[in-house]
Amino acid sequence: MFITVHAAAATIIGKSIPNPFLAFLAGVLSHFILDLIPHGDSRMGKKFWAEKLKFLKDNGELKMMALYGSIDSLVLAFFLIFIFKNFEFTRADNVIWAIVGSIIPDVTVAFYKIKELKAIKWFYKAHNKNHNILVNKINFDLPLQYGVLMQIIVLTLLTWVIYFIS
Ligand SMILES: [Zn+2]
Repeated sequence: MFITVHAAAATIIGKSIPNPFLAFLAGVLSHFILDLIPHGDSRMGKKFWAEKLKFLKDNGELKMMALYGSIDSLVLAFFLIFIFKNFEFTRADNVIWAIVGSIIPDVTVAFYKIKELKAIKWFYKAHNKNHNILVNKINFDLPLQYGVLMQIIVLTLLTWVIYFIS
């Protein structure tokens, strides 16, 4: 799932948890829960997309991740600037740590894919397993474009919630 969606959800969750450390843990937990929702980037979704975009053919997964990750990080940067400038509560430690917690799982996964550090392999595997557990169980994932659309809608709704609770 887009890192920005994780960050937006964590912004809302973090607001109701005053303790920064607990907010951080809640952020991490929310990441794993949100990842369960089929959103088009399971292995199935990736395969579908790799067939459409021929330039992804060689070393497709890494290129895919770089492309997806770059766009994702850029959107996240704009989103964070937007909330920090407009909503005072988002500048509190607990909200910031909840956001950090919600982002860290994907940062760790990306780091593992690049560096293959053995010490974090278990985390990489657990994240992947969690990510695909529901998709595999119901044997369904959205095509990536619908997954992206769904996430844009969810992000819009979450931004509305942030606006209303501010
Ligand atoms: Zn994730």
